[in-house]
Amino acid sequence: MYTVGVKASPTTENPIYGSLQYLKGVGPWRAQVLGRMGLFTIQDLLYHFPRDYQDRSSIKAIAEVELDTSATIKGKILSVRLRPTWKGRSVLEVLVGDASGTITATWFNMPFIKEKFRTGEEVLLHGKIKRYRYLQMVNPEFEFLNKEKEDEPLSPSGIVPIYPVTEGINQGLFRRLVRKALEFVPYLEEALPGPLIEARHLLPLKEAIGEVHFPSSLESVKKARRRFAYEELFLFQTALALRRQRIKTERGNAFRIGLKVDEHIRRLFPFRLTQSQEKVLEEIRQDMQSPRPMNRLLQGDVGSGKTVVALYALLVAVANGFQAALMAPTEVLAGQHLHTLQRYLQKATLKMALLVGGRASKVRKDDLKAIREGEINLAIGTHALISRDVQFKNLGVVVVDEQHKFGVLQRDRLRQKGLMPDVLVMTATPIPRSLSLTLFGDLDISIIDEKPPGRSPVKTLWIPRRRLTEAYDLIHEEVKRGRQAFVVYPLVEDSEKLDLKSAQEGAERLQSIFPEFRVALLHGRMAPAQKDQIMGSFRDKKIDILVSTIVIEVGIDVPNATIMVIEHAERFGLAQLHQLRGRIGRGSEVSYFLLFADPKTPEARKRLEIITQTSDGFRIAEEDLKLRGPGEFFGTRQHGLPDFKAADLARDLPLLKAAREDAFKMIEADASLESFPLVKKRVLEKYKGRLRLVGVG
Ligand code: ADP
Ligand code: MG
Repeated sequence: MYTVGVKASPTTENPIYGSLQYLKGVGPWRAQVLGRMGLFTIQDLLYHFPRDYQDRSSIKAIAEVELDTSATIKGKILSVRLRPTWKGRSVLEVLVGDASGTITATWFNMPFIKEKFRTGEEVLLHGKIKRYRYLQMVNPEFEFLNKEKEDEPLSPSGIVPIYPVTEGINQGLFRRLVRKALEFVPYLEEALPGPLIEARHLLPLKEAIGEVHFPSSLESVKKARRRFAYEELFLFQTALALRRQRIKTERGNAFRIGLKVDEHIRRLFPFRLTQSQEKVLEEIRQDMQSPRPMNRLLQGDVGSGKTVVALYALLVAVANGFQAALMAPTEVLAGQHLHTLQRYLQKATLKMALLVGGRASKVRKDDLKAIREGEINLAIGTHALISRDVQFKNLGVVVVDEQHKFGVLQRDRLRQKGLMPDVLVMTATPIPRSLSLTLFGDLDISIIDEKPPGRSPVKTLWIPRRRLTEAYDLIHEEVKRGRQAFVVYPLVEDSEKLDLKSAQEGAERLQSIFPEFRVALLHGRMAPAQKDQIMGSFRDKKIDILVSTIVIEVGIDVPNATIMVIEHAERFGLAQLHQLRGRIGRGSEVSYFLLFADPKTPEARKRLEIITQTSDGFRIAEEDLKLRGPGEFFGTRQHGLPDFKAADLARDLPLLKAAREDAFKMIEADASLESFPLVKKRVLEKYKGRLRLVGVG
């Protein structure tokens, strides 16, 4: 145990950075459990914030609870019953009573917690009140009073923290540990600069730490949370500002873009650029002509015409005698890009190579050699482009078609392949401002906010199961007129086999409904060559109806496809639906986006309502973020967002903007952070490895 004034351990000077093992109540075993939660030092423990609070000052009598509101009740366990339901599932029902009445707490599929409930014991329950057959709380928080009462540190306000904990540590114990750790508050070091604390009206650290764990009111919880949210955002934005600063000082290539080059490139485009494309192009031209490496994000809705803009950048590099690379998130997309560029480049003499995983090794070997020797002008591929064996002779520009799958690190790896190539990242979907400032906060941003002219509208219809025949009639009519249709099935990792099966069955069913049409199936498990072949046949109109899993989500461009059916549309995220919708309506004919769905939850219903109401990608993105939260927004686990504990990107945009402004100003004035040693320390601790802040430390 540390006592104030005693030197902590030989290696740490400030006890706040000392091992938890020396905290009273923490032996080697508990230290291990805490370590598994990522908690090693006293500071770690103090920064492990409650995930919720229980307001015990307002414990209600069971007879007084109101339906559909959250409440905390206290009572005796009267009976415990584990009931099997269907397919091996179960429900645990615990009847709890106080002087005023009884309520049943139910937990679904958690048979293992049954042992914890003993009749006669006192329990606190916190959760939403429902009435099905009788008064219920479904999956409430629970806590046993008898067991944990001893030495229970309550805050005088009666507001009790609930921590995210793991097996082996219960709430009562965790609270006691935090209470102990709070004795070290005098040792905490305030990293935030004083003037910012004042200007942004933030709670000072020492006060905020006390309030976040044992708050004096729910109001002060909010203030404390706001302070820590700002702190997280500020430290992260400082890291981004440092990255940006570093790249800005590097010397890259200054490309020449004379009138001739410009004309030459424009002649390859079969249309006039929109004003929005022109504006963005000018920003890119400025970047490329400057000796500092370009580091830019190109945002634009699906179909807004990002590809030509990217192509311009690629061709500028080639015209200057450099190599160019285009990196896509999937093989299908890389193939699609190759195809598109070949179409634009028919009149140009230029050597291209496609580099994806799983190509025949002889071809790959030849391609690698040609890339190394500079014979290939333009390499298109997946992340195979950044594998170790790929060496460019003189890589001048890299366009990353991101779809959020290339994190900061991969971007860096590409950078290392050349002499500081210019980097242009394209996002295939609109991203809410708070997320783009986080994920791409180190980049300059260009936005295309206008669609090319002559687009036909897409009609979006939500079709419940009982009206399927009408939808089939519509498909029949359109395909008979020579149009093509996509039918998309959901595919998620956890139920991949089942999903694949339903797509297969769906294709068979459609073939039997439309015997005169050619139906084909495309899915992610197929070999790349087979995928290419099917996509090719669809483009060449040898397939009428293409049934597929989500692989077509991005980038497929078949103007003759005027129908897209989404099976189980309730399972798709809003951004995904929007993305899919962008694949049709590319020709001059009216297109139909048909959502087959019978949503079961209010959220799924809300999503379908939004997608049928608006086609504004940015609005859809914001709604999606609000509905699903930042972690789920991208629908993939490798989204690369930092793991914020207090900040909530769905709600904290104003705070994020403030923190960003402050961080960037600070770095502009003092790039070495000489006058902010604690900021520097914390930023490096947290982000040095992740954001490659080499050369900063
Ligand atoms: P994005 O990559 O932003 O989704 P694309 O670059 O694939 O969009 O463009 C979508 C479609 O619009 C393509 O078929 C492309 O040929 C066409 N297009 C792009 N810019 C223009 C323009 N200025 N005028 C007319 N058509 C355009
Ligand atoms: Mg595109």
